[in-house]
Amino acid sequence: MNDRLVSPRLSIVVPCFNEQDGLDEFVRRMVLAATEAVGQDYEIIAVDDGSSDATWDLITAHSCDLPNLIGVRLMRNYGHQMAATAGLSVARGERVLLIDADLQDPPELLLLMTPIMDRGADVVYGQRSSRAGETRFKLVTAAAFYRLLGRLTSVPIPKDAGDFRLMSRRVVDILLAMPERDRFIRGMVSWVGGRQVALPYERDARFAGETKYPLRKMVRFALDAITSFSTVPLRIATWVGFLSAVIAVALVGYTLVQWFAGHTVAGWSSLMATVAGFFSIQFIGMGIMGEYLGRLVEEAKQRPMFAVDSVSRGGVSRPLELMTANMRPSERRAAVERAIGVEPDLHTHDDRTGTRD
Ligand code: UDP
Ligand code: MG
Repeated sequence: MNDRLVSPRLSIVVPCFNEQDGLDEFVRRMVLAATEAVGQDYEIIAVDDGSSDATWDLITAHSCDLPNLIGVRLMRNYGHQMAATAGLSVARGERVLLIDADLQDPPELLLLMTPIMDRGADVVYGQRSSRAGETRFKLVTAAAFYRLLGRLTSVPIPKDAGDFRLMSRRVVDILLAMPERDRFIRGMVSWVGGRQVALPYERDARFAGETKYPLRKMVRFALDAITSFSTVPLRIATWVGFLSAVIAVALVGYTLVQWFAGHTVAGWSSLMATVAGFFSIQFIGMGIMGEYLGRLVEEAKQRPMFAVDSVSRGGVSRPLELMTANMRPSERRAAVERAIGVEPDLHTHDDRTGTRD
């Protein structure tokens, strides 16, 4: 990789959260695949998402022997989607591969994605034709979730695709200009549009360690996806309200008929059941509104999405200034270059695109 202000051909962004057991093997396979694809003209951005194990030590150790590797350490655990966003903000490549650290996404697939992009695709995403080593529960809930999401939103979000994808620089820049904090990256990429091509692959089992997505995080992720890409649930609340109003009117009619017929006091239990039923419907409606309102509050605060503790390259760690969604690509890039110690070369400087020699 040239040290002047030149874009590497490829950036590889890998979010890592407590991945100490698999990281060496990931780096080994990823370096082989990247070298075969683009020679030395690549960078690996390994984002440590607040790991509590030796992940960061391993990343800095690799950055000493591997000049292509840039480590980014976040101040705490912000979650997978935010760690990926942090990595995308630091990436300078003309193309960016987003990949998991656990080798469930085979790094070698890069070699199949690259020619598809050479033929003009903006995004090449991995679509899982099979998923080894996942629990039945995860498979069933994931399938149900993607189908539900498909019905609720008008953005065509591909089924059975994760975040494993190769993206063009322009798609990454558009993605980074999206200010929302509840990030559902695969949906946001679909929203951008352009030529998006699926590449079917067999998803392997995790190489080491266990999933960093417990049920709690999965539910949160699913709710983020739905609330960011659909307002249908808000309208469901309205329809349920209408429906319950109609039922209530019918019930009043029924009660009046009973009253005229003289059976008034009977049916205390049915009354209680009705009251309880309507209360639950109301609370569902309020809950749905709360889900959206809570997110609105978060967005209204306009906080930065993540904070970086340090950036490590060639064994040297430096701080990185705050990255925000309203930065221009050239500003973001200049901040990254200061942090990784690349001297700006005024002669070749041509804003974001840079000039390649
Ligand atoms: N990850 C992360 N922060 C988190 C959780 C996960 O950076 O809070 C990373 C993790 O290290 C991995 C990727 O995100 O590289 C996907 O996580 P995982 O493999 O645990 O998810 P699964 O494949 O089980 O859905
Ligand atoms: Mg995984």
